[in-house]
Amino acid sequence: MTKVIGYAAQQATTPLAPFNFERRELRSGDIQIDILYCGVCHSDIHTVRNEWKGTVYPAIPGHEIVGKILKVGKEVKNFKVGDIAAVGCMVDSCGTCSSCSDHLEQYCQSGPVYTYNSRDRHDQSITYGGYSTEIVVDQKFVLNVPKEFKEADYAAVAPLLCAGITTYSPLRHWQVGKGSVVGVVGLGGLGHMAIKLAHAMGAYVVLFTTSPGKSEDAKKLGADEVVITKNPDEMAKQSNRFDFILNTVSVSHDLDRFIELLKRDGTMCLVGAPEFPHPSPNISQLIRQRRQIAGSLIGGVQETQEMLDFCAKHHITSNIELIPIQGINEAYERMIKGDVKYRFVIDMASLKDKALS
Ligand code: NAP
Ligand code: ZN
Repeated sequence: MTKVIGYAAQQATTPLAPFNFERRELRSGDIQIDILYCGVCHSDIHTVRNEWKGTVYPAIPGHEIVGKILKVGKEVKNFKVGDIAAVGCMVDSCGTCSSCSDHLEQYCQSGPVYTYNSRDRHDQSITYGGYSTEIVVDQKFVLNVPKEFKEADYAAVAPLLCAGITTYSPLRHWQVGKGSVVGVVGLGGLGHMAIKLAHAMGAYVVLFTTSPGKSEDAKKLGADEVVITKNPDEMAKQSNRFDFILNTVSVSHDLDRFIELLKRDGTMCLVGAPEFPHPSPNISQLIRQRRQIAGSLIGGVQETQEMLDFCAKHHITSNIELIPIQGINEAYERMIKGDVKYRFVIDMASLKDKALS
């Protein structure tokens, strides 16, 4: 066992604070990683505040992890000590069901083991995430950080492990490419990656935002147009225009306003996972143009590696604000207000520095 330190929530209403715990002894296929950076996802907030119910405390979030390999189990073949590696939202799955066989571990029929707040399949312990100094993960769920990324990029690579794959996977599944007209709803962590990725895939990208102040940034990120959703005239001009809309909004809202923007056979895919349900959509809007509402969960391990390689090839990383872990509670408050450009990433050196922690 290795003694480590993390930041944990002890209850839904208490701020995150330092917490000492142990990482398991390496199993033969395990990899021990010294965490360098961990991104801050809105799912971390939903979880520590028990917005999705079922949070087990203490809860240590964090599933956008980049670090350096410290140790490998005796059956580990494709990684070695010193390599830069990454871990995303899952650390295990059954490995045998139809989804796992199709490299879609996120849809594992017995439920994937998430990086945090999930039950380990071997010892039934609760998983603790990346807001910590080290993590131990089965090699099958460890990603290779492409060599094109240099040390100075590692912090901005971390958010690709959730925000990147969660937007890449549906864009690929719905075959977004040259000639597609794509809407992205919400410019936060997921939204800004969706714009970059859809743009790199060759699509015409329109951002829908509640924040007029984000328009200029959106264009720099790759949006061709920006629509302020609070403005009904601007919204009306967008009717029947979109092949695909990726909705990343983290709160419950009216979906009808976006459904009517889809072309015949168009799809709106929801990736935002709000605390409360959306109001039921107007079905006639779907029927009349054979439109679809869908959902999508992160992406499989193989596809996550493909996404990292795609990002390396297209020089895509996240736009980040690097914070010390001591600033995490303030960062949550700012995220809830939409005040982040566009992903907070924790510099884990701040947790290792005895003078600070
Ligand atoms: P985020 O950085 O906080 O961004 C959310 C964005 O939603 C905000 O930037 C804002 O964009 C918009 N928004 C916030 N409040 C709003 C309101 N009241 N009305 C309208 N729009 C509002 O969050 P994130 O990390 O990107 O995560 C987004 C959601 O995806 C969360 O629910 C998260 O749990 C979920 N998620 C799902 C998966 C999956 O696999 N499906 C994976 C990761 C995360 P504007 O300012 O541009 O309006
Ligand atoms: Zn996430």
